Amino acid sequence: MTSRFTLDLTGQVAIVTGASSGLGAASAKALAGAGARVCVNYHRDEHGAHAVREEIERAGGKAIVVGVNVAHEDRVEHLFAKTKEAFGDVHILVANAGLQKDGASDTLSLKDWNTVLDVNLTGQFLCCREAIREFLARGRKPEVSRALGKIICMSSVHQVIPWGGHVNYATSKGGIMLMMKTLAQEYAGRGIRINAICPGAIKTPINHDAWGTPDAETKLKKLIPYGRVGDPEDIANAVVWLASDLSDYVTGASLFVDGGMTLYPGFEDNG
Ligand code: NAD
Repeated sequence: MTSRFTLDLTGQVAIVTGASSGLGAASAKALAGAGARVCVNYHRDEHGAHAVREEIERAGGKAIVVGVNVAHEDRVEHLFAKTKEAFGDVHILVANAGLQKDGASDTLSLKDWNTVLDVNLTGQFLCCREAIREFLARGRKPEVSRALGKIICMSSVHQVIPWGGHVNYATSKGGIMLMMKTLAQEYAGRGIRINAICPGAIKTPINHDAWGTPDAETKLKKLIPYGRVGDPEDIANAVVWLASDLSDYVTGASLFVDGGMTLYPGFEDNG
């Protein structure tokens, strides 16, 4: 017997931050493929964002492009206002925008610390807060979705794996974990589901140095028991599931999509 519920997102509206490339772009396309109308947010790469919109439209979907920096409160409000203006009620947020400013901790500048925390953690909080406000103001429509609203925070395996030379990034992802769980606890009773996806190593521009040459990829694969570097679609598939009624009893969860990177691969052969 098949489930009464499906991956179908027809009639729903999704905002995906940082959707001009990488995981955000793949997630926007996958959500549109599942029937959602999608707001493709970007910060600097307007061309990339429009390429994603065009691909969605060519496939018969609906999308708009809105450029805002998610670290700025008034710009996040603008992002939601533009989406509502174009498509009406918002049902799904994928808080995905993120960046790295790497460096040894003893020389890391305050500016690089703040930039990463501002975008990766505060930016996600601002987007989550705006989505929660929007969901609460609208009220539940069970014919559209069982939940009042769904939020997916893009975290990382580095919410649990410490990462030398990346203290700002790892701290931001550790922060996302407790922000997500706290919000999930606080709003579950009002029908909002909030979860995180923790990607391992996925081929996107953010980590090109780690997989861009055969030598680098071979070294990286030693950290991945499943034996391959991930593709953006591996994450986008999880995004669609978490956004759909198929995952309706899932909230406050961190879904590791990492080919086993968090399984301590160094211990595979007796440690
Ligand atoms: P990416 O560099 O392709 O995408 C990052 C996106 O965020 C870009 O579209 C960028 O424009 C956007 N962005 C950056 N600053 C922004 C801002 N201030 N406002 C709005 N948008 C902004 O890299 P990606 O791998 O697709 O990263 C997406 C998310 O996935 C990030 O949160 C990253 O930490 C996370 N992640 C990626 C990997 C991986 O292996 N690729 C692993 C774990 C987590």
